[in-house]
Amino acid sequence: MSFTSRLLDWYDRSRRELPWRALPGTPVDAYRVWLSEIMLQQTTVAAVKEYYLDFTSRWPDVHALAAADLDMVLKRWAGLGYYARARNLHKCARIVADRHEGRFPRSADELVKLPGIGPYTAAAVAAIAFDEPVAAVDGNVERVISRLYAIETPLPDSKPQIKTLTQDLVPGERPGDFAQAMMDLGATVCAPRKANCLICPVQALCEARRLGVAEELPRKRPKPARPTRFGTVFWIERDDGAVLLHRREEQGLLGGMMEVPSTPWSEVAAIEPLHQAPIAAHWTRCDDVVEHTFTHFHLRLDVVRARIATNQTGPGMGPGCRWVKPQDLLDEALPSVMKKVVAAVLGPDAFKRRR
Ligand code: SF4
Repeated sequence: MSFTSRLLDWYDRSRRELPWRALPGTPVDAYRVWLSEIMLQQTTVAAVKEYYLDFTSRWPDVHALAAADLDMVLKRWAGLGYYARARNLHKCARIVADRHEGRFPRSADELVKLPGIGPYTAAAVAAIAFDEPVAAVDGNVERVISRLYAIETPLPDSKPQIKTLTQDLVPGERPGDFAQAMMDLGATVCAPRKANCLICPVQALCEARRLGVAEELPRKRPKPARPTRFGTVFWIERDDGAVLLHRREEQGLLGGMMEVPSTPWSEVAAIEPLHQAPIAAHWTRCDDVVEHTFTHFHLRLDVVRARIATNQTGPGMGPGCRWVKPQDLLDEALPSVMKKVVAAVLGPDAFKRRR
C-alpha cells in the first residue's frame, strides 16, 4: 500500500475537526481556508480558533472583510502577532472583492501574487479549496518528510529537497485532503518532540523509524543568538485618567499598531532616556521591567510614569497620539508587548475583560 493510500485512509478515520475545515462531502469556502491559513502562519491552532470565529462572525465573506475598517481589523487581530499580516489580509480582501468579483484565484501561481500570500499559503489554499495537486510544505510537513526519508541535511538547506519529495507524493485525486492529512499527521502523530511511531499510519515506510532516529530529525542549522534591545516607555496619565497612546509608523515592526510612547529600541540602553520623553513631567520609575521576545531580538523596557494636567501638552504629543481612557485600552490595537506594559502599570487584571 502506498504512502498516500495509507495517509488518506488514516485521515478518513482520524481527521481533526477544525472550525475552518469543511465536513466531508460539503463545499469548501476558499475565503475561510485563506483566512485560517493567514492566521495560522507561525501560530498554533489553539491560539487561532477564537480569532477565526470572531472574524468569521463579524466578516462572514471576503466582501464583508474588504468593506471593514482597517483599524477595526487591526484591533480584532491584536494578540495574533505579525501585524503586517493583518494589513495584508485586509488589502488582499479588497483586491479579491474589487478585482476578482469576490472569488479567489484557483491556482497557487495566481494566489501567490496577492498581498500576504506566500508560496506555502498559496499552495495550501489552492490544494484545499480548489484541489490543485500542489505541495503545501509548512513546518509540519518538513518534519514528516525529513523523518520519512531520514534526511540528514539540516533545515533550511534541505527545503528544496523536501519540496520535491513532497510534490512527488501529492496525488492527482484528493490533493486537498492530502495536504490536510499531512498537516494533521505532523501536528498529532509525528510531533516535534515526540514521534508517535507506534500509532503512525506510515510507520512501515518510514526510514527514520527504521533507523531509530525519528526524534533527532529534522536537523537544524544552529540559529544565531538573539540580541537584546533596550528602551523606555512613557506612561502619561492626565488628571481625567486618560492615557497617551501613539500609533507606530505603518512600515516596520508592529507597523500601524498603537503603543505607549517609547524611546527607540536599541542594543545600547540610552543614558538619559527621560530627555526623549514626549512631554516634560515629573517621572517615577515602575518596579517591573517589561520583557518580550520578538523573532529576531529580546526586548527589555523600563517603564516610567507621570501625571499631568488635562490641558498640558508637549513637543512629542503630535500627530499619531491619542488619549484613551483606561477602560477603553482593551479596544485598542495594542500588540502583546504593549499589553505587558499596560499590565505592568495597571496590574495583571487590566485585560481581564476578554474579547
Ligand atoms: Fe513520524 Fe514515526 Fe510516522 Fe516516521 S513513523 S512519520 S517518524 S511518526
